[in-house]
Amino acid sequence: MNWNRLQEKLSILADAAKYDVSCSSSGSKRKNNNKGLGDSSGMGICHTYTEDGRCVSLLKILLTNHCIYDCLYCVSRKSNDIQRAAFTVDEVVELTINFYRRNYIEGLFLSSGIFKNADFTMERLVKVAKKLRIEHKFNGYIHLKTIPGASDELMQEAGLWADRLSVNIELPTKEGLKLLAPDKKHEDFLKPMKTISQSIIQNKEEKKIIKSAPQFTPAGQSSQMIIGATNESDLDIVKTSTFLYKKYNLKRVYYSGYVPVLEDDKLPSVGTPVPIVRENRLYQTDWLFRFYEFDPSEIVNETYPNLDLEIDPKLSWALRHREQFPVDVNKADYHTILRIPGIGVKSAKKIVAARKFGPLDMAKLKKLGIATNRAKHFIVCHNHLVSLDMDSLQLRNLILQSGKSKYQQNFSNQLSLF
Ligand code: SF4
Repeated sequence: MNWNRLQEKLSILADAAKYDVSCSSSGSKRKNNNKGLGDSSGMGICHTYTEDGRCVSLLKILLTNHCIYDCLYCVSRKSNDIQRAAFTVDEVVELTINFYRRNYIEGLFLSSGIFKNADFTMERLVKVAKKLRIEHKFNGYIHLKTIPGASDELMQEAGLWADRLSVNIELPTKEGLKLLAPDKKHEDFLKPMKTISQSIIQNKEEKKIIKSAPQFTPAGQSSQMIIGATNESDLDIVKTSTFLYKKYNLKRVYYSGYVPVLEDDKLPSVGTPVPIVRENRLYQTDWLFRFYEFDPSEIVNETYPNLDLEIDPKLSWALRHREQFPVDVNKADYHTILRIPGIGVKSAKKIVAARKFGPLDMAKLKKLGIATNRAKHFIVCHNHLVSLDMDSLQLRNLILQSGKSKYQQNFSNQLSLF
């Protein structure tokens, strides 16, 4: 193997893969019970974060950045004058095994441009995964990005070797896709999502009857959409992700802020990237409807089509619904407590458990590890009342000012604020 050439390919194809953010792993329970290499159970693949907060795995590569398509938002589009490269199946397998043995990575995230046609490309992606599993008994995490338009048979086979499959929806709206990638249609992405989702359900049923039946993509499927390349609102984005979660039972939808690298009249200008905080606000909203029992329309709707970038969506919702506050943490049910700004799932559970032993006051809440700096404006408890004199705007300013340093320090990791 020519290592210099391989290194060159690696730098091109790892760089080209950095725009794909859907690389976190979860939900896979693949055990190392054949004395092979690796074990993805529990831990999943290791990630790292780039300077701009993007999550990247250590071996996150494209099979090739050659592509027959010309999607305007993509650096790999055929009309873009860039250095091209393609790995062979064996090269990807070798790299994965080598990096794994050196403890650089715990898994593989493999995507690809489309060369020749969808089946030709998908077949190679499947071969990589199959070779790793069969010939090298590799039990590490494998995430394959599927190629829309590939045959159902190839999708089926991919699911047998990969922990997770994903199909990128690319852009949130049909109109956006028509504008920037007229060769593609939303249906091209929805069809493989449907196939994968049905196969997952079918596999679960099979496994109930035959325990030894092979697993089909045990970590489920995910998708990614590029935000800010077209002028869709946050409401448009959330509508699409809600649809995908409901219809295809997706594990995750990733929101990737468009990074303008190409000059084109239809695209935002180079040097005007989507603020990373918009991605964060979308992830927070996503969490609110997946884990906090909010209906998406409570957060974004026709009246409020865009998220407030200065404050998190739960606080924003609470300020619009002052009539629902203050909440008495000694009496309210779990679901109501979950809606208090600054109180997350763990904290809500702690409150419900702790109050069985006596009334809670602010000191006790703090002792439980509950962050009260924002919550205190929305709760009543033993010896603590809130002033109702301030209107929502005044309260918003007070929270922003009083927590400014803390709030801004946490700006980039606000998911944890819930
Ligand atoms: S098909 Fe994929 S790789 Fe090819 S130009 Fe479009 S987005 Fe890029």
